[in-house]
Amino acid sequence: ISMLLDMASDGFGDRVVIGTRESGITARRLKELAVAGAEAVRDAGADAVVYLAVNGPAFPVAMFAAARAGVPLVPVNYRLGREQLDALLAHHPRALALADPGQAEVLEHAGLESTTPGRWLDTLSNSVVTEASADTVLDDEGAAVVIYTSGTTSAPKGVLLRHENLTSYVLGSVEFAAAGEEDAALVSVPPYHIAAVANVITNLYAGRRTMVLEQFTPEQWLDTVRDQGVTNALVVPTMLARIIDSPADKSTPTLRALAYGGAPMPGRVVERALHLWPEVGFVNAYGLTETSSTVAVLGPDEHRAAIASDDARVRARLGSVGIPVPGVQIEIRDENDSVLGPGEVGRICVAGPQVSAEYAGVGRVVDDHGFFDTRDKGFLDEEGYLFVGGRVDDTIIRGAENIAPAEIEDVILRHPAVSDVAVVGLPDEEWGQRIEAAVVLRPGERVEAEELRSFVRSALRSSKTPERILYWDDLPRTETGKLVRRHVVDRIIEDAAAV
Ligand code: ATP
Repeated sequence: ISMLLDMASDGFGDRVVIGTRESGITARRLKELAVAGAEAVRDAGADAVVYLAVNGPAFPVAMFAAARAGVPLVPVNYRLGREQLDALLAHHPRALALADPGQAEVLEHAGLESTTPGRWLDTLSNSVVTEASADTVLDDEGAAVVIYTSGTTSAPKGVLLRHENLTSYVLGSVEFAAAGEEDAALVSVPPYHIAAVANVITNLYAGRRTMVLEQFTPEQWLDTVRDQGVTNALVVPTMLARIIDSPADKSTPTLRALAYGGAPMPGRVVERALHLWPEVGFVNAYGLTETSSTVAVLGPDEHRAAIASDDARVRARLGSVGIPVPGVQIEIRDENDSVLGPGEVGRICVAGPQVSAEYAGVGRVVDDHGFFDTRDKGFLDEEGYLFVGGRVDDTIIRGAENIAPAEIEDVILRHPAVSDVAVVGLPDEEWGQRIEAAVVLRPGERVEAEELRSFVRSALRSSKTPERILYWDDLPRTETGKLVRRHVVDRIIEDAAAV
């Protein structure tokens, strides 16, 4: 990825690419800081740069400094508990750490040399860069980042992305220097998410200024969009839902493109967003950490067509994640690994140069044809549009029937009184598993369990109707809006034991 920064610095060195219009960092300055940062990493003898802090301008600097020093950047979730952090940092005993002050004890325990992002930037700003150290180390096969997945389906896995993976994603997705002088992107996902890494690089390559939110609130997001003239933004579905529900002023005069992804988007939320901002081009981006982020995209035209059309097939596209991005192949496979045809539901498998499918300490996990199994369920329609129907590991097996909780959740979410829902399988003596649903109601709304059950029954069938509906105040979701189903099941079991 160093090559991409070199191109930016040579091509539009004076353009502010990170931070606010008034006090941001230009492309040339970003390169100088990365060069100085690389020297600091080498001087420390570090074999990785751990970033354990909220988002900020030091994040892209750390990313490109690590790249230039030939070591990976390891962004770590600052919300993890002490035990998880200890376990994770133990994998990187020789790292240089950039961490928020509150993490000092954890870092000391891990025996890591550390500083705060702010102090690090100050030091780099004052260091003198020598001619020789400005030479780029180009190692396409080297590790660029190690990202730990959130562990919603299993223990967190350290996904290793090589420079060639990230570079192919960027080159396939954006045109060099294509953005206008005034273009500005707002990235609201935290730095330990693949979308933050990918977006910093794509925006830089496009010549678009990137701003980050330290912590997302709908009000701050809306204010930043207006104050900073944001043209492109990236959110996860829960963020979009909160923005739309916010009582704050929702005018966004400069916003042209809004990308969302990272978790399933409820149809109702995106429909409301489309009506709220008819001028904005919406993009649904589907991808995984293992695939260097986006592998399929549903673009603005399809979004607009879907809400304007009377044709059911075109309308249904709003529930699709679109078509593969350049260089990516997507196949649907059954349990015997045979490739399925249009409309047939199976496992979504992905191949292409941006697909790393590699885990630190494990290696690549691909089949004989180079395809990586996402463990997402889905199908491709006749025209090649991909539909995602939740994760294979979330499948409820009731009797002999395989049931995708996502299908039931989609129905329940259509009820006007419901704001959020989780459908899970619980151990059951008779059926193996039984279906239960935890529901969060909209403020001031009420709906009887029996009404919700018959709502599901009339849309689907009896065997898919939850046996119990529980009313909760909130659901266990990660900061990026992913439902942690394990925690839903644990809570139901704990509550039952407490009675
Ligand atoms: P773990 O794999 O440990 O559970 P994780 O969920 O954080 O961790 P990610 O790589 O961040 O791992 O998430 C990728 C998953 O997010 C995909 O497999 C898919 O289930 C879901 N996802 C991502 N984008 C979309 C989208 N646009 N629509 C629906 N689901 C999506």
